[in-house]
Amino acid sequence: MSQEVLKIEGLSVAVDGKVILDKVDLTINEGEVHVLMGPNGAGKSTLGYSLMGNPKYEILEGKVTFKGEDLLEKSVDKRAKAGLFLSFQSPQEIPGVTLADFIRSGMEAKGERVSLYKFKKNVKSDLELLNMDASYLDRDLNVGFSGGEKKKAEILQLLCLKPALAILDETDSGLDVDAVRTVSAGVEAYKKSHNGALLIITHSTKILEALSVDRTHVLVGGHIAAEGGPELVDEINENGFEKYLNN
Ligand code: ADP
Ligand code: MG
Repeated sequence: MSQEVLKIEGLSVAVDGKVILDKVDLTINEGEVHVLMGPNGAGKSTLGYSLMGNPKYEILEGKVTFKGEDLLEKSVDKRAKAGLFLSFQSPQEIPGVTLADFIRSGMEAKGERVSLYKFKKNVKSDLELLNMDASYLDRDLNVGFSGGEKKKAEILQLLCLKPALAILDETDSGLDVDAVRTVSAGVEAYKKSHNGALLIITHSTKILEALSVDRTHVLVGGHIAAEGGPELVDEINENGFEKYLNN
């Protein structure tokens, strides 16, 4: 049996005193691809932020185990170091920190020290895969990047940091067809390089085309309303969330 990476048990979360997530259960094993779907406002991003340890999100109850350890006990830094990665719906700009140095500091936090020269050499094939010019490495993180470039920069981080689990929060939204294909190729490479697991939050199936989906979860009103295999993604794309709304 494959190794368990993430186990969420009965997780309830509030923001500003309002309950957003209601007793969510979700388990992801090594190398598995999970899809999280749900209408706007269902709590998908809230789940990502809560797992990452954003202090705005108050854990009311429940347990989260990451690689056998209590995740909720850990600081944000320690969660990333343990191998949890969240690709944000709107990536942050960090003036004064280049993309290269941002990624290198993430690698360093994981105990992997690499010179700028060597980093640039190592990352060359990843840049090619993502159709990114090497000059991006010397630019300040996300400053002046287009939406697509920001998403590619996140996938580059994913390829370099090799987390055990990557949560991609609508990484494909707002991208043109070619950019989705490129991002999808990057995600596939991440998965293949070290059997990394994925939780993909998405409204479209395009990013899933190159990947084989193991499990689909439907989040409605803060709770898991349905679960299934890859066929559930197609079913929802055809029929929407309507039948889950009143359950
Ligand atoms: P989704 O990603 O599924 O569209 P979100 O997790 O972003 O949904 O939001 C779920 C609900 O929680 C929404 O009603 C949203 O307004 C609320 N919410 C999320 N984050 C915050 C926040 N930081 N402050 C106030 N309300 C929030
Ligand atoms: Mg969201």
